[in-house]
Amino acid sequence: MTEDRKCSHKAEADHFDDFLEQQALEQRLGRIRHKVLVMSGKGGVGKSTVAANLAIALALAGKRVGLLDVDIHVPSIPKMLKLEDVAVQVKDGVIQPVEKAGLKVMSIGFLLKGRDDAVIWRGPLKMSVIKQFLKDVEWGDLDYLIIDSPPGTGDEPLSVCQLAAPLDGAIVVTTPQDVATADVRKSINFCRQLKLPVLGVVENMSGFVCPHCGTVTDIFKSGGGERMAADMGVPFLGRIPLDPAVGVACDAGTPFIYHYSRTETAKAFEHIIAPLLALSNSVATLPTQTTTNAGENQP
Ligand code: ADP
Repeated sequence: MTEDRKCSHKAEADHFDDFLEQQALEQRLGRIRHKVLVMSGKGGVGKSTVAANLAIALALAGKRVGLLDVDIHVPSIPKMLKLEDVAVQVKDGVIQPVEKAGLKVMSIGFLLKGRDDAVIWRGPLKMSVIKQFLKDVEWGDLDYLIIDSPPGTGDEPLSVCQLAAPLDGAIVVTTPQDVATADVRKSINFCRQLKLPVLGVVENMSGFVCPHCGTVTDIFKSGGGERMAADMGVPFLGRIPLDPAVGVACDAGTPFIYHYSRTETAKAFEHIIAPLLALSNSVATLPTQTTTNAGENQP
């Protein structure tokens, strides 16, 4: 066989593999009703906290929810849900998500050998691991897949938008200060370029809840997220105060809203899921899947 002929056979085989992969991806995602990306302009604004608590609020509202952490360099979802030492199981070549607090969870953090390991990957490798998380994880039938993306507009959110299209939209998290809201404008423009609807902006750390008397004090200038949302013509979903109980719950790996569902802060989270719940108002229920990693159900 000539070299040219061999090459054309190889190209055909590659093409066929791509086709099969694409089909597998579509089949897996076809069982997920709503896919929502949680983004932020910069780190430390509480994006993962919001993503985890929104996911749990949806699960508490009776929805079947997956939480996918595509923050490859700083995956904080395992820590937030106290899942740092969990080993991911693979059954028949399919990765089993870890179950916790009614969520199916997957994160690159589950695959790292040591908690302090640094991931040094370029864009194509990141895209291929995100593809694997979408295609090879046994998500089953889900009402929502909440995808926690790293801050900014880099490879990870771009890969998610390309691989999981069409997404229902993005929730963009900011703090009230100008320096944070300026970066969020870039996130909103990113969504516009990719034709990803912006479901709304959440202003986190908006005012401080006194742990003694419950009074809320605006330690940063508040309302910056709301003003920016109005300026950019996107919905404003609400404010979540800086509440010491949120930080303590996060550090302890006990999801805040699961344990403090009656507090004002939890109500703020619940308010924010309204547009997500509205996405599925007209949708009927699918049969429930049972894939449990024993002992991982309690937060
Ligand atoms: P990001 O994902 O934007 O980098 P994280 O969600 O990891 O940010 O949050 C950073 C830190 O801020 C965490 O320690 C978290 O517990 C804390 N935090 C986030 N939101 C709040 C809040 N509303 N009140 C108190 N602490 C918060």
